[in-house]
Amino acid sequence: MIDDGDSITNLSIVQIIAKYGLLANRGRAKSLGQHFLCDPSLLKKIVAYALPIEDDTHIVEIGPGPCGLTREIVNACSDRCYITCIEKDESLKPIHDELLASSAARLRFIYADAMKVRLQDLEPKQPVTIIANLPYNVGTPLLIGWLKDIANIRKMILMFQKEVADRICATTGTKQYGRLSIISQLTCHAEKMFDISRTAFYPPPKVESTVVKMIPRDIAKFDLASLDVLTAHCFSNRRKTLRKILKEHYGVAVSEEILTSCGIDANARPENVAPRTFLELSKQLLAYSSTHILE
Ligand code: SAH
Repeated sequence: MIDDGDSITNLSIVQIIAKYGLLANRGRAKSLGQHFLCDPSLLKKIVAYALPIEDDTHIVEIGPGPCGLTREIVNACSDRCYITCIEKDESLKPIHDELLASSAARLRFIYADAMKVRLQDLEPKQPVTIIANLPYNVGTPLLIGWLKDIANIRKMILMFQKEVADRICATTGTKQYGRLSIISQLTCHAEKMFDISRTAFYPPPKVESTVVKMIPRDIAKFDLASLDVLTAHCFSNRRKTLRKILKEHYGVAVSEEILTSCGIDANARPENVAPRTFLELSKQLLAYSSTHILE
């Protein structure tokens, strides 16, 4: 029997892990990146970066696990908010059912691989706020998918492996700067909030973590596909100059002319070109290739 003292709303994460025998299957837990954040003050701190959470906001959490972060989200939301949690591990359902039973919020759990869920398919259909301690192995591909679908997002408070957060927020000219920095910073204001030590998790992962806040920019739609192709060419060999890369992929005629009109030093290397400049360059290349047959 579950009484008040033993209900999910009162138990610590360590007690929930023990009560439900989570992590008993080590191989499975490992493959799902199950490292649970146990410190309630850190969980509260993550959610605080999403405040204010207005009525009727739709919050999406990826990988609720034993609901440490979910509980804090529920506490921060009025009953008029929608909270959708997407969890791959269906064996955690009994824990989620307990939270559902004690929560008046419009809370629901979907058992699915978050990589296969499209935000626009979630009800209610409105831009979502994503709050998540992302499983390390799918953090980057999930983020890239969302950035390509930025119109469906209002705000993101996301925890990543520290090195991934460093790449998202990297400034031009640093060795972390690359494709992830460019797409992140073009679509969002991205800022690192704070680091979380591996010892705050049970079981501790091998890596340190960082929480990043990302607010979508009010941008005109642009062709991410051509930007994607351009940055792939550029960052597959960071040591080459822009002149050489463009000549190889877009032909001789185009390179000098377009580089000059974008104000890019042809001898610059990709890591020295700012996100906005890459965008301008990709637009001009697209316009050029639609009017010329590339050599
Ligand atoms: N949010 C919890 C748990 C984080 S551990 C906390 O902060 O402590 C990561 C969680 O993501 C686990 O519950 C794991 O089962 C889940 N998960 C892993 N891969 C997933 C995927 N592809 N889609 C949805 N959930 C996933």
